[in-house]
Amino acid sequence: MRVTKAIINLDNLSYNIKQIREKIGPDRKMLMAVKADAYGHGACKVAERGIKEGADYLGIAAVSEGAELREYGIKAPLLLFSLCSIEEISELFKYNITPFVCSIDFLREIENYCMTNKTTKTVHLKIDTGMNRVGCKSDDCFETARYIDKSRYLELGGVCTHFPVSDSPDTVFTEKQIERFKEAVEKIKEDGINPGIVHASNSAAVIQHEDAYFDMVRPGIILYGYSPDRAIEDKISLKPVMSFESEILYIKKIDKGEAVSYGLTWKADEDCWIGTIPAGYADGVNRLLSNKGKILINGELYPIAGRVCMDQFMVNLGPELKCSIYDRAVIFGYDDNSQGADDVADICSTISYEILCNISKRVERVFKG
Ligand SMILES: *Cc1c(COP(=O)(O)O)cnc(C)c1O
Repeated sequence: MRVTKAIINLDNLSYNIKQIREKIGPDRKMLMAVKADAYGHGACKVAERGIKEGADYLGIAAVSEGAELREYGIKAPLLLFSLCSIEEISELFKYNITPFVCSIDFLREIENYCMTNKTTKTVHLKIDTGMNRVGCKSDDCFETARYIDKSRYLELGGVCTHFPVSDSPDTVFTEKQIERFKEAVEKIKEDGINPGIVHASNSAAVIQHEDAYFDMVRPGIILYGYSPDRAIEDKISLKPVMSFESEILYIKKIDKGEAVSYGLTWKADEDCWIGTIPAGYADGVNRLLSNKGKILINGELYPIAGRVCMDQFMVNLGPELKCSIYDRAVIFGYDDNSQGADDVADICSTISYEILCNISKRVERVFKG
């Protein structure tokens, strides 16, 4: 096996799920967001463990992700967060995927399929309360709810919304959204329509908006051990699930004044040892870590020296060699003292989500626990 790999610690996933369960109580449903291959962790194995730990639903972003889970044998209900094409509608039936819906045009296309194939479809109505991505504005949502309710082919399985700033310590906007959403749900009920499962909370809302738990929560990033924002990370205890690691496969001494890697951007200011690690930006070691990243080897952090290449990078092991060839090198993960995906994200001016999702297909996922 290649030495560059992502260890997926399923016991840490179980730990995080328990923390979420403690917050939401025993009776609410939990949907695990396993889109983007479970944020790079491997959707099938993550889903399997999550369901064992009591998760009820799985959230996906592409029909193909649902197909993969079904082919693996996952039976849990699948909610499709993003919109799909007309072409993909038949696969919603083939793989028993429940779509978020927000337009009557799309509902008509689903009805056409149902009519031809003598079947029905459960859908969840997405209501926009301020993000303006997908979801009908609350005025149109009643018309859409009534349309679903009247159709002999459609069933309203749930009603939901999504929060764009629920990770902010300033909770005012999200509180307004929660109010708007509650009013919309009440009006749907007043119309004599059963809204089904009412849900809204992403990870951030699970952490700090208890009044948005409703019937089900939809956590993603906290399952994988990271807070959506550092400002609220103290409000929940989490363990990173992924350790992205490799080994030193080559060590040599260079002289003061010599440079390392493409562009010769790093120069040794003393005689020192350089270790070469066979992982690069094609694996998901962001090139912005060039001359900035810190790698954990034998409990100590060593700086990346020079530019990260496509398949390799170098570390400065210092003037006195304390490491040996084949030593484990943690790029980010759950070891004491190692960098987290959030630390790496800070260096790269992005978020832990993107760092995790960008661990590429070439990196084998090794499941433990
Ligand atoms: C991705 C996603 C989530 C989970 O978001 P996190 O911030 O990772 O918790 C929940 N709901 C919807 C609609 C999503 O697209």
